[in-house]
Amino acid sequence: MAKVQKCSFCGRTADQVSLLVSGVSGYICDQCVKQAYEIVASTDPNLLSTPSTPSGSGSSLDMATLPRPAEIKSFLDQYVIGQDDAKRYLAVAVYNHYKRLAQASADADGVEIEKSNIIMVGATGTGKTLMARTIAKMLKVPFTIVDATVFTEAGYVGEDVESILTRLLQVADYDQAATERGIVFIDEIDKIARKADNPSITRDVSGEGVQQGLLKLLEGSVVNVPPKGGRKHPDQDYIHIDTRNILFICGGAFDGIERKIAQRLNTHVVGYNNVQRVGNIDRNDLMKYIVPQDLKSFGLIPEIIGRLPVLTHLDPLDRKALRAILTEPRNSLIRQQQKLFAMDGIKLTFTDEALEYIVDKAVEYKLGARGLRSIVEAIMITPQFELPSSGRKQFKVDLDYAKQQIEKNDTLSTAT
Ligand code: ADP
Repeated sequence: MAKVQKCSFCGRTADQVSLLVSGVSGYICDQCVKQAYEIVASTDPNLLSTPSTPSGSGSSLDMATLPRPAEIKSFLDQYVIGQDDAKRYLAVAVYNHYKRLAQASADADGVEIEKSNIIMVGATGTGKTLMARTIAKMLKVPFTIVDATVFTEAGYVGEDVESILTRLLQVADYDQAATERGIVFIDEIDKIARKADNPSITRDVSGEGVQQGLLKLLEGSVVNVPPKGGRKHPDQDYIHIDTRNILFICGGAFDGIERKIAQRLNTHVVGYNNVQRVGNIDRNDLMKYIVPQDLKSFGLIPEIIGRLPVLTHLDPLDRKALRAILTEPRNSLIRQQQKLFAMDGIKLTFTDEALEYIVDKAVEYKLGARGLRSIVEAIMITPQFELPSSGRKQFKVDLDYAKQQIEKNDTLSTAT
């Protein structure tokens, strides 16, 4: 009599399961495989990292198919107006990151490409986060954006710095090898600056301690990461993540750093009799003269600055840039409005004067690019409410209409 094939673990027969895998002296069914996987995952998730993509091997990155820096930049150009310098730095950093991952195993020549973490400094609302979000769309490695304001020193209320890696791990679907090749954008890095002028004798919870914690990650070390929140890891075992190949991009507004830059430039005049140079200084945009020393004066510890060797700045947005932001990016505010109306079968247009007026208001309210959105929303709320049921096929926003809507909407002007 033929022997009935059944799972050696649960005893179910072949016709009771979807799949029965045969071994040397027994069988295992698909359900037991699943259960076994879950047990391994909850015991030691490291055991599940795919051996075919060992950490840093770069085996899945094919240099021939990777976008070159110029391609990365032109992709950014579709969404982000201006900021050419920052775009170039970012494009090169990402490209070099790929190169480093691709070479990690093939360093027979002894030349090891070191990573170059980046720091981007620029006033709020100039496009730092937008740039990070945009580049994320084309990246070939896991990417996450974290906000430095949530971190506090270990033991205090708030999140530990290590949770940066938890996010990356989650994005990488708990693939440890992929996580170790990822890119992290740390927003608002200026918020963890040491507050030198803080007379308080209590510990600086959000300052230097956090920077020390962050330093560990930037330097490249093996960090214990709590995979919290993950369904597979209810017992919060630590996952060991090596940060050597993780690229960190930091961004911050560094409010008031212009004063430090100005101070430094002035010292130079006195010290080096450098009158000529100071005469050429553009006082309206001091940010472009930023050097690492200014970050130190602002309150970043030298060790952190040393680990962020690429320093770039974002330009303030002038009228021309604000006007371009309204209409040129692929998902510009105006295009978004037009799409909303198109879904109701209405063709929406704006006159040039109306667009100029929106820019004027954004400049007047000093809200930068962020202000454009609230102004456009304020103008469009009435038509968004009324037009879908009006049966109209087109709608033009001209200067008079825009003015009228803004003037009747007090909230914007009183909010500023
Ligand atoms: P931050 O520099 O503070 O990170 P964001 O990137 O969050 O600023 O910018 C806020 C919003 O302003 C963005 O969502 C975008 O709509 C707009 N914006 C800012 N700068 C630009 C830019 N250079 N090009 C296009 N849009 C921009």
